[in-house]
Amino acid sequence: MEKRLLALGGDGIGPEIPSYGLRVTEHLAARSGIELSITQGLLHGAAWEAHGTFCTSDVLQQARASDAIPVGAAGGPKWDHIRVPDGVRCQDGLMYLRRHLQTYLGLRPACAWPALLDRTPFRTGAAAHADILTLREMCGGGIFATERGRRRVGGLRQGYDMTAYDKAEVSRFSHGAFELAKRRRGRLVSCDKSNVMESYKLWREVVTKVAQDYPEIAFQNMFADNCAYQLMMRPHDFDVVIGCNQMGDVLSDLTAVFAGSLGMLPSACLAANPDSGSALGIYERAAGSGPDITGLGIANPVGTILSVGMMFTYSFAMHEVESRIQTAVAATLQDGIMTPDLGDSASGAEMTEAIIDRLGP
Ligand code: NAD
Repeated sequence: MEKRLLALGGDGIGPEIPSYGLRVTEHLAARSGIELSITQGLLHGAAWEAHGTFCTSDVLQQARASDAIPVGAAGGPKWDHIRVPDGVRCQDGLMYLRRHLQTYLGLRPACAWPALLDRTPFRTGAAAHADILTLREMCGGGIFATERGRRRVGGLRQGYDMTAYDKAEVSRFSHGAFELAKRRRGRLVSCDKSNVMESYKLWREVVTKVAQDYPEIAFQNMFADNCAYQLMMRPHDFDVVIGCNQMGDVLSDLTAVFAGSLGMLPSACLAANPDSGSALGIYERAAGSGPDITGLGIANPVGTILSVGMMFTYSFAMHEVESRIQTAVAATLQDGIMTPDLGDSASGAEMTEAIIDRLGP
């Protein structure tokens, strides 16, 4: 079986991080009968420096022809202020890819690792067994506002971004979310701010209607602010949490607290129902480009390596490979081999090799 990967390092710790992921991918592909064809490309700041655009049309074409797209990170202080004239479409390389590939379903799993429990800010036992899949809608909402800009209102300067969702966007995302909940512990919380905002009123109506197709799932709507509080107070009570592009972004970073570090969180953005096993996916860890640790070789590789596991499940239909990776990560942590964000001194490369050593033959 041949699989085509487009690897986009991006910025900051971006280029360093996917190299760890590709090491693991190559190791596992060789043992799983997969012939890999890997193309490297530039994204966001790296693409801006070389081509004056955050994502070239060549990269988009290569992405469309790929089975999976591992990404490092996009962004950094040098490029965050740049406004592209046609900014709605290519303000950010990663957003541009998500929008054009329609990778609408963002999966951000986080779990409490036994070996890290006493290294989190939670009191003993409070986060034990926490295992939450945050799902973020990836192609709509305020992040992809079709109207945004600056204007004067009553003599005051105003910045604005129009947040809008249509029924079809919320419906396809919700169906994907309920399908994923069926494979897990069967509980789903949808968060919104429907008490105050119209787009969230529609969000809540659509998700509640889709929930009727899944009577086996215990479903609940929750206001997002309360959801953030409940997630930290009783994380083990949650299973799947879903939210719009912005809420999902923020809430998933919050779950990194019981996972031990932002560097521990993988993610997948899928362009098709997760059940297909051959969805085109963008796979990256959930965090940003880590400007404060760029070039130090200490970035935690686990989020990237767990994202490789998600790639084997959702794009290659090989869930057993993801399980092997999770077991090897747990064993590495148990043996105390960790990067500084987890309180130890291994480099990212050393931790990666330790995980590969524990993957077995
Ligand atoms: P960040 O996510 O880069 O970093 C937040 C904190 O987490 C930092 O202390 C960082 O050192 C730490 N961290 C992140 N990844 C880590 C890892 N693998 N190992 C150890 N520690 C890790 O957040 P930021 O500073 O807000 O953003 C930096 C840049 O990243 C911004 O320019 C932003 O535009 C961009 N960004 C990109 C993405 C993406 O590519 N998906 C997401 C968010 C932000």
